[in-house]
Amino acid sequence: MRKTKVVIIGAGYIGASIGYSLLLKETVEEIVFIDANRNRAEGEVLDINHGITCMGKSYVRLGDYDECLTADMIIITAGKNRRDGQSRRDLSYENIRIMRNIVDKMTPYYQNAIVLVVSNPVDLLTYQITEWLGDKDGKIFGTGCMLDSSRLVRLLAEYTKASIDNIQISVIGEHGECFMPIWSKATIYGIGVDEYCSQVGIPWNDEVKKGLIDQVYNMGSEIIKRKERTHYGIAIVTSFLVDSVLNNHPAMVPVSSVLRGEYGINGVAMSVPTVISLKGAKRCLELKWTEEEKNFLKICAKRIEEEKLLFYKE
Ligand code: NAD
Repeated sequence: MRKTKVVIIGAGYIGASIGYSLLLKETVEEIVFIDANRNRAEGEVLDINHGITCMGKSYVRLGDYDECLTADMIIITAGKNRRDGQSRRDLSYENIRIMRNIVDKMTPYYQNAIVLVVSNPVDLLTYQITEWLGDKDGKIFGTGCMLDSSRLVRLLAEYTKASIDNIQISVIGEHGECFMPIWSKATIYGIGVDEYCSQVGIPWNDEVKKGLIDQVYNMGSEIIKRKERTHYGIAIVTSFLVDSVLNNHPAMVPVSSVLRGEYGINGVAMSVPTVISLKGAKRCLELKWTEEEKNFLKICAKRIEEEKLLFYKE
C-alpha cells in the first residue's frame, strides 16, 4: 500500500461511513477527521479505531486544517442534510455558507491535494469550490451522478437478472434532480440493453426505461422517509473513487467537474463520463451520444446555471 493520507472534513454520518469503508478496504494509510463539532468527530474516531485489531490497518485520528498541507486527498462531506420533503437544491444557501467557511480555513494549507466534494447540492458546491480554490486541472471534482449510476445498475440487474459486474451504464447531468442515463451506450454482457432484452425475452421500451429512471429519482427520498438519511451507498461509492485516484486504478465514471467546452458547455459543474486516476478527474470524455442525449445535457446545464444565477441574485 502506498503511504497515503486522506482528510475528511465533516465527520457526520457520511464522513464517518466513508472513513469506516476506507478502513475496512485498507484503501489509505492515514485518515484524519475535521469537524466543527470536535466532540462528535472525536467520538467517531474512537469508535472506528476500536475495530482495528480485527480488521483494517489505517491510522484514524482527529485533526485540524493544517493537516490539508500534507493530504493526498481532501473529502468534503460537511453541511446540512435534506429532510423529508426537501430537495437537494433547498440546501444551497446554508451549504454554500458552510463551504465558504471551510475553504477559508483550508486555503492557507491547501497545496496539491485532490478535493472530492460529497456535500449537496454537489454540482453547485463543486462549481463554487473550484471558483474559490482556482481551477486545478481536474484536481477538484464531486461525486456527481456516481450514486445515481450505481442505483440504476442495481435496478437494471434486478430487472434483467444479469450480474451487476456485467452491466455498464452512466447517468449524466445533475445529481438527483435533472439527470439522464445514456441508454445508447449502455451494455449488458457487452451487448446493447435492447438486444440483450430481446434475446432473453424481457420487454425493453420507453415505459420500462421511465420506470427505472423514476425509481432512481425517488430512491434518495424513499430512504430518507424510512431512516432520515442516506449514507452507506454514497460512502461506498466515495471509497471506490478514493481507491481509483490514490491507488491508481483508473476508471471511467460520471463524476461532476466544471466543464470547459465539452459538449458545448462552459463553466457549469455536472457529470459526464470522466477518466479518473492519480491526476484526479483530468479527462471528461466527449462521446458520440444521440442528439436527444446531447440536448438533454444542455437542458441540465441550463437548469444548474439558472440555479447558480438565482443564488447570486438574492
Ligand atoms: P450530518 O449532519 O450527519 O453531518 C454533517 C457534519 O458537518 C456535522 O458533523 C457537522 O458538525 C459538520 N459541519 C457543519 N458545518 C461545518 C463547518 N463549517 N466546518 C466543519 N464541519 C461542519 O450530515 P450527513 O448525513 O453526513 O450529510 C452530509 C452532506 O452530504 C449533506 O449535505 C448531504 O446532503 C450530502 N449527501 C450527499 C450525497 C451525494 O450523493 N453526493 C448523498 C447523500 C448525502
